[in-house]
Amino acid sequence: MANIELKDVRKVYNNVFEAVKGVSLSVADGEFVVLVGPSGCGKSTLLRMVAGLESITSGTVAIGDKIVNTLEPAQRDIAMVFQNYALYPHMSVRGNLQYGLKNRKMASAEIARRVAEAAKMLEIDALLDRKPGQLSGGQRQRVAMGRALVREPAAFLFDEPLSNLDAKLRVQMRAEIRRLQRRLRTTSLYVTHDQLEAMTLADKLVVLNGGVIEQAGTPMEIYERP
Ligand code: ADP
Ligand code: ADP
Repeated sequence: MANIELKDVRKVYNNVFEAVKGVSLSVADGEFVVLVGPSGCGKSTLLRMVAGLESITSGTVAIGDKIVNTLEPAQRDIAMVFQNYALYPHMSVRGNLQYGLKNRKMASAEIARRVAEAAKMLEIDALLDRKPGQLSGGQRQRVAMGRALVREPAAFLFDEPLSNLDAKLRVQMRAEIRRLQRRLRTTSLYVTHDQLEAMTLADKLVVLNGGVIEQAGTPMEIYERP
């Protein structure tokens, strides 16, 4: 695992619209930081700049001791979990979990070890031979998390991963993510507009508004202030 460090990061779209206005924040090694704020405040833009899916207008993003501004997503040693699960429909769950590792020419014993470990952790061992179309929404979300886990990245990025689930499943998956976090102590930057989700998961909360950080602190500090 590794820390994530943003220094004075800005994003200007189309040379005119400043969506992120000089944000500095750090996610310590093993820390779970939740970026929360209303729709349009720049959360997704910020996360996508860390992932390498969006160019950085100015400032620096570092993962571990490496500035990653100009690196391709694949070179950043991160894994991202999206709200649309992005699973390959024609492949089995096992196939989906293995896919990225096979492309990296990893030894098959190591691939099998990682897939078995992730499947066990996410309780999807019994589903390995099914296709995504034969899974429930919650199961698909678990497979999507499994695909990120098997990469064993330095850090995880979550972009509103639960927002497509119904209320009951959302509560269940929220607890699941919390359980995994307690167990694995992954370095994570998690974006949501849901305050309860933010409060439940965060070691540290960062409240973004209009492209700037409005508040940052523990859930207690942010929500129980008079
Ligand atoms: P959030 O994730 O908090 O909802 P976004 O990061 O998606 O916010 O968007 C922040 C602001 O930037 C919004 O005003 C949005 O309309 C604008 N924006 C996002 N993507 C683009 C884009 N590709 N081109 C121009 N403006 C964009
Ligand atoms: P590879 O890791 O061998 O490049 P993939 O085909 O799985 O294999 O990935 C295609 C691209 O998407 C690569 O750049 C990969 O690093 C990236 N990628 C795949 N899954 C994720 C993920 N969950 N989070 C971030 N990047 C990913």
